[in-house]
Amino acid sequence: MAGVSEYEYDLLVIGAGSGGVRAARMAATTGAKVAIVEDRYLGGTCVNVGCVPKKLYSYAAHYHDSFDDAAGYGWQLPGPASFDWSTLRDNKISEIKRLNGIYQRMLEGAGVTLINARASLADAHTVTLHEEQRDSTVTAQKVLLATGGWPWIPEFPGSEYAVDSNQVFDLETSPKRFLVLGGGYIAVEFASIFNGLGSETHLIYRGELFLRGFDQQVREFTCAEMERKGVNLHFNTNIERIEATQDAYNVYLTNGNMLEVDVVLAATGRKANIQGLGLDKVGLELDETGKIPVNDRFETACPSILALGDITPGPELTPVAIAEAMHLVESHFKEGTPEALDYTTIPTAVFCHPNIGTVGLSEEEAREKFTNIRVYSTNFRAMKHTLSGSHERTLMKLVVDDATDVVVGAHMVGDDAGEIIQGIAIAVRAGLRKHDFDRTVGIHPTGAEEFVTMRTLTRT
Ligand code: FAD
Repeated sequence: MAGVSEYEYDLLVIGAGSGGVRAARMAATTGAKVAIVEDRYLGGTCVNVGCVPKKLYSYAAHYHDSFDDAAGYGWQLPGPASFDWSTLRDNKISEIKRLNGIYQRMLEGAGVTLINARASLADAHTVTLHEEQRDSTVTAQKVLLATGGWPWIPEFPGSEYAVDSNQVFDLETSPKRFLVLGGGYIAVEFASIFNGLGSETHLIYRGELFLRGFDQQVREFTCAEMERKGVNLHFNTNIERIEATQDAYNVYLTNGNMLEVDVVLAATGRKANIQGLGLDKVGLELDETGKIPVNDRFETACPSILALGDITPGPELTPVAIAEAMHLVESHFKEGTPEALDYTTIPTAVFCHPNIGTVGLSEEEAREKFTNIRVYSTNFRAMKHTLSGSHERTLMKLVVDDATDVVVGAHMVGDDAGEIIQGIAIAVRAGLRKHDFDRTVGIHPTGAEEFVTMRTLTRT
């Protein structure tokens, strides 16, 4: 059995994204000798082409409503507000550069060696570094694959004209007419973003309703609110082909309609980023979902090769990749054996407008799981919108297991739903009962207080 000293590093991480950076830093703080290889950008998807720029653009889009809402509160704007895409895009670029620098300093400060190269596996302890001029190898006791995901676009005539979510952030100009293909959270978020920024916006989805897997009432409510805000939702249809004209794209749909737009975004899913990673060199195979299976210690079928984050099964979320990294370091670089990571009750948000926040089971999942459930739901116009004149509504919902009174799901569509559900998630995670919600005093006047004042049963 090889000893630690035989290798140049105790841990070599491939991919400096959400999970890789955290694992490298935390392992280094235990005294391990750690290197991280990254060929594109520090911080990975989340910082560069995911959560961060998306949330910044979502903030930008929210101003549209704020300007409209302000008049009822007495504010008079000098004229119609105008939006400058290049200011937003370039400020976003500067902010991400700043974050890239922070990541670099954090890694270096923790004593992690940063290697700027594309990496591939050569064997169970050896990694090839593909640098501009030459290839070299480096050895490590353990190698962590944290290479994340990459957007995937299905092939259809003209699919080459579609941009993916990596490209959409840096468009040259803001599209007057924007079309997004897809029904997942990324598609829904970008529809809200471009609608808010003033583009005529279309969302095309082949299914009945977007956001499959979310609570049905949440999906229907979000659909109605997004339509009210002016997003054109086209369900039960797909893109048949895209034709480029001199200065636009004609998008032909399978329902016989044609839409002329300036940008087509394909938000049609992501695949594990394993191209050229050399999985075959160590005998690793993908599962039926195209991910690398791991055990509770994040070991692959080749025990010296670890994997976490979006290339492994499990929710594709930054806090999940980070939790996995913390757990991996506990398991491999500290004394004792931590309990397996618990993937239940992971809260999540969709930053469409209005936002969705959710934790625990949907009503449909709860009906499957428990004999009897109670559903408490409220749907109201927030106080802010009395004077603003906006017709935006808010949905809040608690799903309770009747036998135990435990709140097994909490859902919200409305302003700052992600912020509010983060707090509620602690209660749901802790397994608190509806009775505990009821005996919590509300904060008045807020929308959030509805979560502790819902007394009337909506349905069983
Ligand atoms: P990543 O962060 O993807 O990092 C992988 C890194 O590996 C990359 O930097 C890549 O360049 C590098 N790499 C790949 N191959 C190699 C190689 N061979 N050699 C060297 N380096 C390599 N999550 C949330 O929690 N909230 C959100 O709001 C949210 N919004 C999102 C919005 C969008 C548009 C997208 C695309 C994703 C979003 N996500 C969000 C998901 C989140 O970004 C991912 O779950 C998270 O980044 C996964 O982290 P990771 O460590 O697995 O990989």
